[in-house]
Amino acid sequence: MTKPRIIWLNVIIFLMTFLIAAIAVPYRAYTHGFDSTEIIAAIICFIYCGMSITTGYHRLWAHKTYQAHSSLRFIFAIGGAFALQNSILHWSSDHRVHHKHVDKNEIDPYSAKMGFWYSHIGWMLREYHSQGYHDYKNVRDLQKDPIVMWQHKYYLALTITMNFGVPIAFGLWHGNVINSLLLLGFLRLVLSHHTTFFINSLAHIWGKQTYTEKNTARDNGILAFFTFGEGYHNYHHLFENDYRNGIRWWQFDPTKWLIKGCEYLKLTSKLRVSPEDKIEKAKLMMTLQRSQQKLKNHPDAELMLEKLQHEYDNLIVRVNEFYATKKKLIATKRDALIADVEASELMSHYQELKQCLVEQRRSWHLLTEKLI
Ligand SMILES: [Zn+2]
Ligand SMILES: [Zn+2]
Repeated sequence: MTKPRIIWLNVIIFLMTFLIAAIAVPYRAYTHGFDSTEIIAAIICFIYCGMSITTGYHRLWAHKTYQAHSSLRFIFAIGGAFALQNSILHWSSDHRVHHKHVDKNEIDPYSAKMGFWYSHIGWMLREYHSQGYHDYKNVRDLQKDPIVMWQHKYYLALTITMNFGVPIAFGLWHGNVINSLLLLGFLRLVLSHHTTFFINSLAHIWGKQTYTEKNTARDNGILAFFTFGEGYHNYHHLFENDYRNGIRWWQFDPTKWLIKGCEYLKLTSKLRVSPEDKIEKAKLMMTLQRSQQKLKNHPDAELMLEKLQHEYDNLIVRVNEFYATKKKLIATKRDALIADVEASELMSHYQELKQCLVEQRRSWHLLTEKLI
């Protein structure tokens, strides 16, 4: 079978940027050195690129897990062009296909079942899915967002402006354009590329399958650290509409913290979370299946399996009961709060009327007193 055609532009971009980052940057560090301002600026640019992809491209546009103010969408659109990962429209279209057809080699654009190299970068080096390249049927909703369409139209100009403009401007201001181009330009871009690519490759290979074994996605705290929280990928593939990937408060997910933090500033709204009972039941199902597997070779397998199933069934009943009651309790509290507010509004209205009545009685009295 002949392999699809090589996309030379992508090969050259990935290869050149990688070689410069791996050879020229260390050489320059050895011969000239980089100062702390340059290093801090490069880290800021790296975070800006990474978070624009995770918070904007991924959780906002591809999955619509929350809504964002146009100023925030604009910031992410620019950051996405800086990250050089194609337009929002194209990225989101690919990603929605990845979720819908995960691990199906013929359809999933970066199927992990094709191996580490393919899912990491190989899928972008040849025309594997050229027939559907401009098919944006699955992102019709995004075509209504003027910022998405503006970024798609001017993507090339934006990406060139950001990737050369920012490092050159910083270098001119700080006094060393070559250092700035190497650090803020090339090294930042390569690190930003490969940390994002790890979500398609490593996050489907390395880690725990906490919630489902129906796909290759894994939960991995170490990967989450380098990917702004996207390492909890097993959870994400099962609960893709949740704005969080790391759902526990201690799980490293700065993307989740940014989305939540912006809610207080009224920049984000309608944050979606998955029902707690569904999350717990998915995890319990996985534990049940693994325990059943372990017990298969136990001398008392039949008895133990029966006991396990019995305990599991009881637990599920209790889980359902608990969350149904919790839901009722929250609804009751909300009703009570509304009633409290209504009562206090009624009370203040009553007080106002009482005061008016006293005054009007007084003026009536004064008026009639003179007439009688
Ligand atoms: Zn996703
Ligand atoms: Zn995935």
